[in-house]
Amino acid sequence: MPKNVSGEEIAEVIHDKCIGCQLCMADCPVDAISVNDDGTVKIDPVACIGCGRCFKVCPAGAILFEKALARGAAAAAAAPAAAAAPPPAPHRGVAVFIETHNGAAADVSWELAGKARELAQKLGAPVYGLLPGKDVGPAATEAVAYGCDTVYMTDNPLLGTYLPRVYGQTVIRMIEQARPEIVLLGATPLGRDLAGVIATKLETGLTADCTGLDIDMQERLLLMTRPTFGGSVMCTILCRKSRPQMSTVRPRVMRMPERNASRKGDVKLVAFAPPSDSLPRVLEFIAKTGELGEVDITKARALVVVGRGACKSEHLPMFNELAAVLGGTVACSRPVVEAGLLPYVRQVGQTGKTVAPKLYVGVAVSGAVQHLAGMQSSEKVVAINTDRNAPLAQMADYALIGDYQVIIPELIKGIRTRRSAPPGKAEAMGYAPPGQSTK
Ligand SMILES: Cc1cc2nc3c(=O)[nH]c(=O)nc-3n(C[C@H](O)[C@H](O)[C@H](O)COP(=O)(O)OP(=O)(O)OC[C@H]3O[C@@H](n4cnc5c(N)ncnc54)[C@H](O)[C@@H]3O)c2cc1C
Repeated sequence: MPKNVSGEEIAEVIHDKCIGCQLCMADCPVDAISVNDDGTVKIDPVACIGCGRCFKVCPAGAILFEKALARGAAAAAAAPAAAAAPPPAPHRGVAVFIETHNGAAADVSWELAGKARELAQKLGAPVYGLLPGKDVGPAATEAVAYGCDTVYMTDNPLLGTYLPRVYGQTVIRMIEQARPEIVLLGATPLGRDLAGVIATKLETGLTADCTGLDIDMQERLLLMTRPTFGGSVMCTILCRKSRPQMSTVRPRVMRMPERNASRKGDVKLVAFAPPSDSLPRVLEFIAKTGELGEVDITKARALVVVGRGACKSEHLPMFNELAAVLGGTVACSRPVVEAGLLPYVRQVGQTGKTVAPKLYVGVAVSGAVQHLAGMQSSEKVVAINTDRNAPLAQMADYALIGDYQVIIPELIKGIRTRRSAPPGKAEAMGYAPPGQSTK
């Protein structure tokens, strides 16, 4: 009868009987079970607390636990609960759900990993990555490069497609092992759905679509800021009583951190436990294709954003031309979608897309809070407006005051002239063609 360091009996694996299902591993409260090269499991005598849970869950009778046998299987089922309940470790650390599609991580996961690092530094705590999926090994390496200290990974074909119950159960297992005080997810269709599943199961609070996250250092609480009352007020929400504190953040709200390939971190495999009941089966994925509106404005380096004051179909070629000379694309404010000039996929703002281009040019956009909520991370902002007091003109790096119908043709002409100028002349004007210095 093997014993642990405290002299208590610990369970023993009968290797010939072990079928490698890893159910014991998934159920072990102290992570004392790992996999041998041949797929069978082994128990770490130092970590094992002798609770006997593995004995209880093993479907193959491959675990020997004399204490339980002596009391009879029925008694064993009740006894471990008392014995197996070491006081729960305090919740500590910031976890990020790493969303993948076909094994590749969504950028928002890394944006959140960067934010998680910032929060974790304030808390003096680690950053965890929660990575369920299929063929996600490379994403685990990336997660470390983007700031995770430990990545909890479950790699299983059943996780190749998002199924709320399966993903929820898997991520909850990870959360139970890591015990983070904060969990962040991208406010993507998948992330929004999963966040609800997890928060409901863990009976904790969830603040959706946060635009700011910080730490109250006195109370060690996550400060979750988001627009409310139709975007007219920003509020900061706290989750005082339950853990983890959960928040979703839309893509492009947080800045992408630097990738550091030399960072070191751990990857912990979390066993996959298939759900006991039947699951829906995804037969086929049919990607949306084809329409004019199918552009991804969140990826554009430059955006020419058309507002209500410029909502004229005859001027669309001019906006497209400006976007083309800037190497970008056309987007719009909500009234332009409502007027039917451009499709919803091009809408910037609280109920549209969050964008963070290198250059945002607002053409007759006033800059209502609901619009600003979707573009405030843009690097350089240019406002073209007849009203110098328009909020966008006030917050812009450059405000061009006047009628866009006059300004835009001049802008296009000016940019073209500078681009075609010989290098010496371009330098004098502060612009040099790609590859040449402007200094
Ligand atoms: C719950 C909720 C969610 C919302 N979500 C969004 C959202 O996601 N995105 C969004 O954009 N809005 C959203 N809105 C609407 C938002 O409140 C504003 O109504 C909208 O952003 C205004 O759009 P705009 O700036 O294009 O138009 P306006 O506010 O009407 O501004 C037009 C501007 O054009 C200027 N102008 C007029 N003629 C010219 C000219 N010839 N040359 C130069 N300038 C000119 C004017 O001076 C003015 O500043 C939301 C509202 C609510 C209540």
